[in-house]
Amino acid sequence: MAHVCIHWFRKGLRLHDNPALMAALTDCKELYPVFILDPYLHHTKVGINRQRFLIGALKDLDCSLRKLNSRLFVLRGKPEDVFPKLFNRWNVTKLTYEYDTEPYSLRRDERVASLAKEHGVDVIYKISHTLYNIERIIEENNGKPPLTYKRLQAIVQNLGPPKKPIPAPTLENMRDVKTPRSQKYEDEYRIPTLEELQLDSQFLGEELFPGGEQEALRRLDEHMKRTGWVCSFEKPQTSPNSLSPSTTVLSPYVTFGCLSARTFWWRLTEVYRGRKHSAPPVSLHGQLLWREFFYTCSVGIPNFNKMNDNPVCTKVDWDTNQQNLAAWREARTGFPFIDAIMTQLRQEGWIHHLARHAVACFLTRGDLWISWEEGQKVFEDLLLDGDWALNAGNWQWLSASAFFHQFFRVYSPIAFGKKTDKNGDYIKKYLPLLKKFPPEYIYEPWKAPRSVQQAAGCIVGKDYPHPIVQHEQISKKNIQRMKEAYAKRSSDNNESPIKKQGITGIYISPGLLPPPYKTW
Ligand SMILES: Cc1cc2nc3c(=O)[nH]c(=O)nc-3n(C[C@H](O)[C@H](O)[C@H](O)COP(=O)(O)OP(=O)(O)OC[C@H]3O[C@@H](n4cnc5c(N)ncnc54)[C@H](O)[C@@H]3O)c2cc1C
Repeated sequence: MAHVCIHWFRKGLRLHDNPALMAALTDCKELYPVFILDPYLHHTKVGINRQRFLIGALKDLDCSLRKLNSRLFVLRGKPEDVFPKLFNRWNVTKLTYEYDTEPYSLRRDERVASLAKEHGVDVIYKISHTLYNIERIIEENNGKPPLTYKRLQAIVQNLGPPKKPIPAPTLENMRDVKTPRSQKYEDEYRIPTLEELQLDSQFLGEELFPGGEQEALRRLDEHMKRTGWVCSFEKPQTSPNSLSPSTTVLSPYVTFGCLSARTFWWRLTEVYRGRKHSAPPVSLHGQLLWREFFYTCSVGIPNFNKMNDNPVCTKVDWDTNQQNLAAWREARTGFPFIDAIMTQLRQEGWIHHLARHAVACFLTRGDLWISWEEGQKVFEDLLLDGDWALNAGNWQWLSASAFFHQFFRVYSPIAFGKKTDKNGDYIKKYLPLLKKFPPEYIYEPWKAPRSVQQAAGCIVGKDYPHPIVQHEQISKKNIQRMKEAYAKRSSDNNESPIKKQGITGIYISPGLLPPPYKTW
């Protein structure tokens, strides 16, 4: 039977390595490529940079579909409300999509699949957002998520390399397939503008990372040409505060699925072939395995984005301090390195991994003693690459709530940035107010004599805030509080009913941890 098929784009905003789209084209007479603006995911709190990236990615997808004599249909609403109408309107017989492991997506997809069944629609989904089938990794580890990178590496070594990516569909694949469109197509299904989404674009900065598959593949090509750089890549040697990014910035493209992680992986394999190259965890292959590691944890650990009822997360008596949280979020902490990073995040939507370390440690166990869940929310809204699993996993790591337990190693909001940028050029770029401070004061402008502040045209306490905490004192106090939280965790674990159910088998002793990045 020739099918009338909807391919539902969610993540996976690409044509290359899209096995679910290919499955749609098998025995297909009509194809409707659909994207749904879901109020749960695409609400107005999501940062405008991210919305712009999404719109760019949708436009690019539509452009590629046109070349296949098709178009993208964009709809708004809850998928479970939208689909029954579409099934009836187009007499749909098959629905295809990429498998998504996020808890919300799993619930949503279950509801949609059951509606499809009621309408006699076959459902096919394929795994292509991660390198491996995450559930297979968990199975291979006796039903538990591996809690160390080393363990994950051992498992994936057993599984063999990730599947090779498949090519994008061609006109040949589309030979017998049509995408019927009525006169109303433009009115009903076109991609909305930012204004139509009620977003105010007047303060948007330059678009440094335009969304879309073509841009993703172009950027990937550019990086892969730099064979020496790729082969010698070691993440800890890259800089949090270089003026242009010292890592690939492919993360937004991987998050939205404009770039397949498997395509990224195999292109790296080609570059490595016959050449001496760095290895995981620090290499670029190693970075993609970090992604796989956190995805596996997010699938295997309940309530992964929360402290409570998350069996691997240490319970900490974080403070609630709205003023300090706002100061951190709005780049008003009085620590120029931290404020410059938070400014870059808000303006550009991307910051380096070690810059994320610095601000995450500062918000949580280092200085402000505010819950990592609050930081997670801010990152989720502002990062172009905001990813449910990676954001939650990395926040737990940085706050020493899970995976990383050396809480006594705290980033200094002053000394850390100086290591790679003595002059403070990064601070000058993002906080131009401080640009006339001499290098010896740019990380600590409050220490500058009044005359230096006057000459710089910036008085601390008037034009730029005093530091909101005394780092030296507060970080020592916080280490002590963290020690107490760990001690409590140990004693609770001994009596925990969860332990009796065997779940604490997934706790790891700090002694078993792989060495952390040596970047302090
Ligand atoms: C507190 C905190 C929150 C984070 N939140 C996110 C998030 O929401 N989304 C996100 O994609 N990354 C997140 N990261 C991980 C990491 O910082 C980014 O993936 C990385 O900085 C992206 O830049 P890049 O593409 O240049 O990375 P590269 O170094 O070029 O790495 C290549 C790819 O590997 C993956 N990767 C690299 N580092 C990590 C990592 N530590 N964990 C998982 N995957 C990794 C990404 O897909 C990245 O594109 C977070 C890190 C921290 C410390």
